[in-house]
Amino acid sequence: MSQNDVIVIGAGIVGAACADALSQRGLRVMVIEQDMPGSGATAAGMGHLVVMDDNPAELALSAYSVSLWNSLVGDLPQRHEYSRCGTIWVAADEEEMDAARTKADTLSAYGIACELLAPSALYAREPQLRTGLAGGLLVPGDGLVYPPKSARILLDRAIRRGATTLRASVAVIEDNGVLLADGARHQAQHVVLAAGSRSATLLPELPVQPKKGHIAITDRYPGFVHHQLVELGYIKSAHAASGDSVAFNLQPRPTGQVLIGSSRQFDTIDLAVEPAMLQRMLRHAAAFTPALAQLNVLRCWTGLRAATPDGLPLIGPHAARRGLWLATGHEGLGITTSLATAQLLAAQMSGDSTRIPAAPYLPGRFND
Ligand SMILES: Cc1cc2nc3c(=O)[nH]c(=O)nc-3n(C[C@H](O)[C@H](O)[C@H](O)COP(=O)(O)OP(=O)(O)OC[C@H]3O[C@@H](n4cnc5c(N)ncnc54)[C@H](O)[C@@H]3O)c2cc1C
Repeated sequence: MSQNDVIVIGAGIVGAACADALSQRGLRVMVIEQDMPGSGATAAGMGHLVVMDDNPAELALSAYSVSLWNSLVGDLPQRHEYSRCGTIWVAADEEEMDAARTKADTLSAYGIACELLAPSALYAREPQLRTGLAGGLLVPGDGLVYPPKSARILLDRAIRRGATTLRASVAVIEDNGVLLADGARHQAQHVVLAAGSRSATLLPELPVQPKKGHIAITDRYPGFVHHQLVELGYIKSAHAASGDSVAFNLQPRPTGQVLIGSSRQFDTIDLAVEPAMLQRMLRHAAAFTPALAQLNVLRCWTGLRAATPDGLPLIGPHAARRGLWLATGHEGLGITTSLATAQLLAAQMSGDSTRIPAAPYLPGRFND
């Protein structure tokens, strides 16, 4: 009998959440991470916990997960650097205001609190926004965390329940085990692939491709903005299946710094900051908040999202290989959806019912 019930490959936010949920069910877990826990896309992400509603499955997963985050941060929000800043979806014109109304209807019908903002209400809340905007939609229950810290907290909870970690690179996923790059083998009844944008390196058949993103952070300017500000036009660019794009996405960090996002690029795994793309992103952000151009930018970085063809993650058993489970393909929403992912995966592995239907995220949907 092997010592571990489950091997989790990857200690990003998704692998850490899986280790936490699986160990909570009494399973003996080993997490194998080739780098520092939380150092992949998890360190690059903005940490916006946001209910997204592009389709019913995305809404169900993100709403479930945001409720799990609320429980997790609980009485110790500062440990996660959590802030319930809320999101304001900014409408540049009447067409986007129509999109805001549709979004308000969808969220309200699902029981998510939200409030349409006329221009005067928008500017009262966010005076730095440029004049001439059509309004917005406030979703007060959204928030933010510092993702690598949350990943560490989840991993530490698993370790306290007996989970182990191993710093090593998995070279091959075998039947009920893994072969490491150093030649060592580890076995377990279940293997969970949570390797983010590198998942297809281990399983080339996976429909997961990297989508690069740039982020910048400023010096401390407390109160510059108060909510996560996202342009409604973001929805058009975020789900494009090809081509480069930028979208206005501004976040007030609890430190007073302003996090500026973001860009989307396919066909590259080069993590270098690209000045032209960065400039495009910053100019676009300053077009929404002109005073941003006067702030000092301290640091810029990039990360790779793991994108699937339908924008939904792969959560559940591999379609063909017994004992192999997938928790990957979370694209630009994996901080938000990590906790629900882990609950869905742990319930399926244990043969329990899931809180929300698991079918939309099953990896086998691409094999039909
Ligand atoms: C610019 C940007 C902004 C974003 N903003 C947000 C946001 O505001 N809100 C949100 O919800 N999401 C956001 N995201 C998305 C989010 O960051 C990701 O979906 C999430 O971090 C994915 O987590 P993960 O654990 O799957 O992947 P990762 O964090 O990449 O973790 C995978 C881990 O697996 C390890 N690994 C890979 N291969 C192997 C191997 N062979 N052996 C051992 N270990 C291996 C890696 O070292 C890595 O640590 C953003 C992403 C980017 C790039």
